[in-house]
Amino acid sequence: MNTEELIKRDIKNIWHPFTQMKDYENEAPLIIDRGKGIYIWDTDGNRYMDAISSWWVNTLGHSHPRLNEAIKRQLDKIEHVLLAGFSHVPAIELAEKLVELTPEKLTKVFYSDNGSTAVEVALKMAYQYCQQMGKPQKNKFVALKNSYHGDTIGAVSVGGVDVYHKIYKPMLFDIFQAESPYCYRCPMGKNKESCDIECMGSVEEIFCKHHGEIAGIIVEPIVQAAGGMIIYPAEYLKRLRKLCDEYKVFLIDDEVAMAFGRTGKLFAFEHAQVVPDLVCLAKGITSGYLPLAVTMATDEIYRAFYDDYEKLKTFFHGHSFTGNPIAASVAVENLKILEEEQVIESLPPKIEALRSNLEKFRELDCVGDIRQAGMVGAIEVVKNKETKEPYRFEERIGHKIYKQALKRGAILRPLGSVIYFMPPYAITEEEIRQVVDIGVDSVKAALY
Ligand SMILES: *Cc1c(COP(=O)(O)O)cnc(C)c1O
Repeated sequence: MNTEELIKRDIKNIWHPFTQMKDYENEAPLIIDRGKGIYIWDTDGNRYMDAISSWWVNTLGHSHPRLNEAIKRQLDKIEHVLLAGFSHVPAIELAEKLVELTPEKLTKVFYSDNGSTAVEVALKMAYQYCQQMGKPQKNKFVALKNSYHGDTIGAVSVGGVDVYHKIYKPMLFDIFQAESPYCYRCPMGKNKESCDIECMGSVEEIFCKHHGEIAGIIVEPIVQAAGGMIIYPAEYLKRLRKLCDEYKVFLIDDEVAMAFGRTGKLFAFEHAQVVPDLVCLAKGITSGYLPLAVTMATDEIYRAFYDDYEKLKTFFHGHSFTGNPIAASVAVENLKILEEEQVIESLPPKIEALRSNLEKFRELDCVGDIRQAGMVGAIEVVKNKETKEPYRFEERIGHKIYKQALKRGAILRPLGSVIYFMPPYAITEEEIRQVVDIGVDSVKAALY
């Protein structure tokens, strides 16, 4: 394969996501040929450790024999069929499994095909529920600063990352925005020792004043991922659940990035022992194989839509590839693997290896914060450790570190000045040591 030629053809016709295409004048995209476990290889045969699970989707590792087999089995039966008026075994099995694995209150599974749509569905369900239950004035949402819920307009409306979202403001619906539980840069000026989740006050204030207009609050559980792998205490979710009950506001739990073991539990909400009203799932649901998403709802929500057709309470929402049989069959197999091979139960030593290795960043005076939740580890690079002065985004410090890491054979795609490790669970403790060492060396090479 002629890599030069492939790059030319790529750039000629492909407009890449989250990419300033002009950058490709100097840095060509890597053309990936194959993958196995935590590694991917480019067309020149160079090997890279996929330390970000291919944008957080690939939980078990690339080219997993059981997942490959599941696709092949399903492919010879039916590749796709609509899910309105029709159903199929993989969709039925997956829904059963998800209902079994989640708390009793979550009884219904609505399929779509990506994380953004799972979020759109949850927002529309919460909204329509209020409309149909005689509370039409409850038509707004609360979201947090630094939140990311996807790139479609509804999902962007509840987003809180200015670089991605600000320009679209005139296109978006209005929301109430609460403070982000960003412990390193605490909006309340507290630190770990003095914190009593004071930032919850910002949610409470909004609920107190406006609960009559609020249908739901949407949050990323435990980790505000795209906002910079901002990790917050489970106690926050606990208190949020209480506030939601008190003010009759739906708790929408966007588990798109964190479900299926990423934080060390099957679902991140389990850390807080709370039950959300709506749960959004995507990314790791197929272990990164195929696009599939789910919005789980309670019976209470489902019931508000259940009536004679002419009452017009139907949830008129669906995508062409909703609940695709091949994707659903991979998801079913993924859940079987997690269970049968005790994948999540086997994570603690790896989580501990990540924790102890991340300590190596402590000595670098450009690393302001080290944070971790299960199989997510992150460091925040700063200009001044004392004042926490950040790098300006134009300095692209994360990108410089990323390029250094690529040279050393690891993919550490940054979020601004945050470098994170989010590898497939197939990674070994030794490989965790290797990739963190590459991280340390890359930070040094980029900054010193
Ligand atoms: C990635 C992500 C989404 C969007 O999912 P897509 O499949 O990219 O549309 C939504 N919410 C969270 C928390 C995410 O990390």
